[in-house]
Amino acid sequence: MYDQKKVAVILAAAGSGKRMGPEDKLYLPLEGIPVLARSACIMEDCSFVDEIVVSLRSGQEDRFQREVTDRFPLTKLRCVALGGAERTDSVNAALNAVSDDVDLVLIHDGARPLADEALIQRVLEAASRHGAAVPAVPLKDTVKTVQPCAEGLVVTATPDRAGLRAVQTPQGFDASLLRDAYHQCLSGPDASKLSFTDDASLVEAIGHPVYLVEGSEDNLKLTTPPDLERAASILRRRAEASKRVPDRPSAPESMQPYRPPLIRTGIGYDVHAFAHDRKLILGGVEIPYERGLDGHSDADVLVHAIMDALLGACALGDIGQHFPDTDPAYRGADSIRLLTLVVRLLHKEGWKPLNIDAIIIAQRPKLAPHIPGMREAIAQAVGLPAGGVCVKASATEHLGFESRGEGIAAQAVVTEESAVTRGC
Ligand code: MG
Repeated sequence: MYDQKKVAVILAAAGSGKRMGPEDKLYLPLEGIPVLARSACIMEDCSFVDEIVVSLRSGQEDRFQREVTDRFPLTKLRCVALGGAERTDSVNAALNAVSDDVDLVLIHDGARPLADEALIQRVLEAASRHGAAVPAVPLKDTVKTVQPCAEGLVVTATPDRAGLRAVQTPQGFDASLLRDAYHQCLSGPDASKLSFTDDASLVEAIGHPVYLVEGSEDNLKLTTPPDLERAASILRRRAEASKRVPDRPSAPESMQPYRPPLIRTGIGYDVHAFAHDRKLILGGVEIPYERGLDGHSDADVLVHAIMDALLGACALGDIGQHFPDTDPAYRGADSIRLLTLVVRLLHKEGWKPLNIDAIIIAQRPKLAPHIPGMREAIAQAVGLPAGGVCVKASATEHLGFESRGEGIAAQAVVTEESAVTRGC
């Protein structure tokens, strides 16, 4: 919500840019995360955004699921809308899929993975007030108008640069104004002759003023390979800036800034008691047994220990802080899904898991047949090959609560690498 107004984002990802090379630029890794996943996560994490509709090319649905939503769950994703021949057809299809009660619509290029919340807020503020707003930056190069001639192209004029701006996304609109602009522009008698390269053009075409807000030089649209390099260096700069502690030249040694190592290790431990009428879920696998484990979520004690270890390695607290058991949102929660959210948080903070070693301590049931399934489920959620995840099971020689069949415990140790300094 922005100023009591419901906000939808259309993520335009149906284009087929070829200037980046044969590979679809939206799925190229940018510091280890696909470009489109980064663009989507900006909107997922933005506090003003209520829902997201992604416009995709037909045939890209599986790839989007595999490389984006399976790895980076988007709780605000309303649906995927399949694109048409032109950009306007694709955005129009997505616009038709936006909830009826949405007040403001932002349209953002899937290939702009560096927009920030302050920029989004500027666009929403102006769109809320004026109905239509776009971020813009001054031109650095002189622009010429040209026309074809026998030898190629010839300059016809040099417009005054002061009166020109390069516009970016997200572009923001009052929802009914945007729907009206699309309806008028796409259904009029001249519709097939019109060509629009951005969404503000349609609003301009129906005579409504479009206001400019300050854009951002970092808000690159990735078009060519050097753009990807530049974007990576911006992300590294941001990550470094967020870690930097102000230097105090005269501070005693104990007050010197803490410089984290490249590799860090975390430990996790959890216990759940057995309960009747519960499923037994361990490592994301449902195990046939007469009892399950008691808990607010699905009580997957193994995954809980792993999540605590992952968070611990980069000093991000524990799962109780991130997913409190007083929050009804997590009642019966699938812990494997929570694990993907933890990994996403790690990526955001510049860390990625290298390996996980875990042990389940239980007298019964027999767990060995289920361990390959657990390793597979955990590895997939964390983004590691199964060889990077070890799960063991141990009994306790008839000592302790585990041997008495009162509950199950789990321990995990993980190693993580700083994605920032290693340039994953
Ligand atoms: Mg637990």
